[in-house]
Amino acid sequence: MTAIADFPLAAPVQGFLAGGPKKLLIGGEWVDAASGRTFATHDPATGNVLTEVAHGQAEDVDRAVRAARRAFDEGPWVAMKPNERERLLWRVGDILSERAAEFGQLEALDNGKSVAIASAVDVAWAADVFRYYAGWATKIEGSTVNVSMPFAPDAQFHAYTLREPVGVCGLIVPWNFPLLMASWKLAPALAAGNTVILKPAEQTPLTALLLGEVFQEAGFPPGVVNIVSGFGDAGAALSAHEDVDKIAFTGSTEVGKKIVDAAKGNLKKVTLELGGKSPNIVFADADFDAAVEGSVNAWLFNHGQCCVAGTRMFVEDSIFDEFTQAVAHAASQVKIGPGLDPTTQLGPLVSQEQFDKVTGYLAAGLADGARALTGGKRWGETGYFVEPTVFVDVKPEFSIVQEEIFGPVVAALPFNAADGVAAAANDSIYGLAAGIWTKDISKAHRTARQIKAGSVWINQYNGFDTAMPFGGYKQSGWGRELGAAGLDAYTITKSVNIAL
Ligand code: NAP
Ligand code: MG
Repeated sequence: MTAIADFPLAAPVQGFLAGGPKKLLIGGEWVDAASGRTFATHDPATGNVLTEVAHGQAEDVDRAVRAARRAFDEGPWVAMKPNERERLLWRVGDILSERAAEFGQLEALDNGKSVAIASAVDVAWAADVFRYYAGWATKIEGSTVNVSMPFAPDAQFHAYTLREPVGVCGLIVPWNFPLLMASWKLAPALAAGNTVILKPAEQTPLTALLLGEVFQEAGFPPGVVNIVSGFGDAGAALSAHEDVDKIAFTGSTEVGKKIVDAAKGNLKKVTLELGGKSPNIVFADADFDAAVEGSVNAWLFNHGQCCVAGTRMFVEDSIFDEFTQAVAHAASQVKIGPGLDPTTQLGPLVSQEQFDKVTGYLAAGLADGARALTGGKRWGETGYFVEPTVFVDVKPEFSIVQEEIFGPVVAALPFNAADGVAAAANDSIYGLAAGIWTKDISKAHRTARQIKAGSVWINQYNGFDTAMPFGGYKQSGWGRELGAAGLDAYTITKSVNIAL
């Protein structure tokens, strides 16, 4: 592995890291945690400390909620016209594009992902999301309703609906796409006129805090965007807070359920993007080479740390051996290394905890009787690297088939076309995404309808777009992000009826 010293940090990144413990953004001010405590964030390629970050807890969450409430109830945010919100959000997108290299390096450092992917996918897409929702700010419309009012047959009415912001929104995001998951929530929330408290993941707080500087530079009024770095207890305090109107969460299904419980107190609105164990279905008539490449990407992209990862690979029996061998070969060729190396394709997992979890699943799969066509163990001696692993000889009940591993591991299962594949593909508590590979257009559409998942990608994988709604069936979540549906999730409808 190449030494990290070979990939020097850009001056602004060095400056950001050197600038002492990072603070919380509350009411437009950068402040220490009330306790004065900080915690370290690490480089997963080396385990080295990158910098200290303020350790926000319930008291800080409460301060941030009060700042967000003031900003929501008083000017200047509430008085701003939609086209002013549009301009502010567009400016955030532009600054992100201008500073893409800096954000990309910082994300690669904090998360471990390849700097090439961090810049081209995470940062570039986040900028696109801010511009997309900037455009929506001026297009939030109610409707006029032609009411009948049967109990007032002789009267006339003028009735219409207003779409208003929900209020103070808590946004809780995970570590796998730290900046991007924050942008999916921040942009529609702000386009609709809400105020927010963002809680980044403890493993990856840095790009969220740098984004706080961008919001200030863009000219957002104080208190509209508040950022509280911390641990699960800060997320729990936000979810339970009586003055928070909505929680938008991305993370594990386990924590998603805790948020639902915590939200009961004031019945705040909740949207959830949770885990997955997505099927990727390869029919024998697929374009073989394209399906191999796409299927490797399906479970290996971002080191398998994707909620949509296509980790159950269903392959038609007549091509099963040839196809799984080809996938294993392609996976064994990827370049493993630190995220800061621009040629790295597979970086380290995010943390010791995640490394232990993934290697635990490798051991469990082998103990259950699965066979690794490639991989099956850690890579190298240091850092949280795991070899890309393709398991065959698996049974549906194995933990590596049922549970979300969140690492570079796929389980391959053969199917017989005469029996159909939908029942096996739907045998999961999750329903986030699915891939289908075939040249038969009818079969593709038929199978897409049979799969219980929020997104179905045909002859591609990870076919996301900012304009396409994304979210889960079953235990993969509640509600949708992105697209017009993503905006709806941050508005509430008021009906107004006037007797003329
Ligand atoms: P997680 O615990 O669900 O964390 C997601 C976010 O929720 C983090 O900001 C976390 O803070 C916060 N949080 C933790 N406990 C909370 C609580 N009781 N109330 C409110 N917020 C809380 O996920 P993780 O521990 O980072 O990863 C565990 C597993 O979740 C992974 O192995 C993976 O299977 C899955 N995961 C899924 C996604 C996805 O996109 N669907 C993303 C990440 C992880 P802290 O960072 O301080 O814990
Ligand atoms: Mg956690």
